[in-house]
Amino acid sequence: MKLIYEGKAKKIYDDFKTVKGQPTVIMEFKDSLTAFNAQKKGQFSQKGQLNLKFSQKVFEMLSEKGVAHHVVEVLDQNRIRVLKLKMLPVEVVVRNKTAGSLAQRLGFAEGIQLKKPLVEFYLKNDTLQDPLLTENQIETLEIMTFDEIKAAQVLALKINLELLQFFNHVGVDLIDFKIEMGKDESSKLYLADEITPDSCRLWDQKTQEKLDKDVFRRDLGDVGEAYKKIAQKIGIEI
Ligand code: ADP
Ligand code: UDP
Repeated sequence: MKLIYEGKAKKIYDDFKTVKGQPTVIMEFKDSLTAFNAQKKGQFSQKGQLNLKFSQKVFEMLSEKGVAHHVVEVLDQNRIRVLKLKMLPVEVVVRNKTAGSLAQRLGFAEGIQLKKPLVEFYLKNDTLQDPLLTENQIETLEIMTFDEIKAAQVLALKINLELLQFFNHVGVDLIDFKIEMGKDESSKLYLADEITPDSCRLWDQKTQEKLDKDVFRRDLGDVGEAYKKIAQKIGIEI
């Protein structure tokens, strides 16, 4: 097995296998936790396996609702096999309420309900700290085609609808989240990467308690406990 990439939260290995003619890679979830473009670093024990289980549960739910995702199989507590995709070079953020960079940049309080979900694109570039992109920039700079932009928006909004229901069912508000997408060799678009408390804002509807990475970003308490709490709410025990 060859390590081909080590990111902030995961490692990617190539074991040169294919599934139905499509190349796959192995994705390992690490126990590390970073924020502010990796300027702040942390970790907690079993974080990797908790995030793997969390993402897997959410991806399985989405799959039942007709969303194609990259996971082929779970190999062990920290590793999954996924389709090796050509990733769109953007992070797609969907927001239902104001929070984080949107609230900060535009001077809004957090937690204001948006009149409709907002889909945003950020260029995946750590050196530039993932800058916000307009649709016009994406198309004109040929970062993605017009059709790719529209397909990514449709997929992101569909995922948002399903996630809103899924978390609402357990008394949790989905404030916003980030997803990544990729294409296989036939240009089919898949949900890729992960959906975890690292990549979502999740607030307890009764207490407004934050059950996501903001606990770490903002030093709000024990991040491991927050992740365990949200995992338990969706039926995951570690
Ligand atoms: P980062 O790169 O931001 O530090 P991670 O540590 O989560 O993030 O690394 C995972 C990397 O794997 C990301 O660059 C992501 O774009 C990429 N990736 C996710 N899913 C796939 C996939 N199915 N095929 C190829 N690359 C993927
Ligand atoms: N997000 C992410 N990775 C990033 C940036 C954002 O997973 O590199 C998620 C973040 O957890 C939140 C949503 O995307 O759920 C919107 O994040 P925002 O733009 O508010 O940025 P932040 O202030 O959190 O960096």
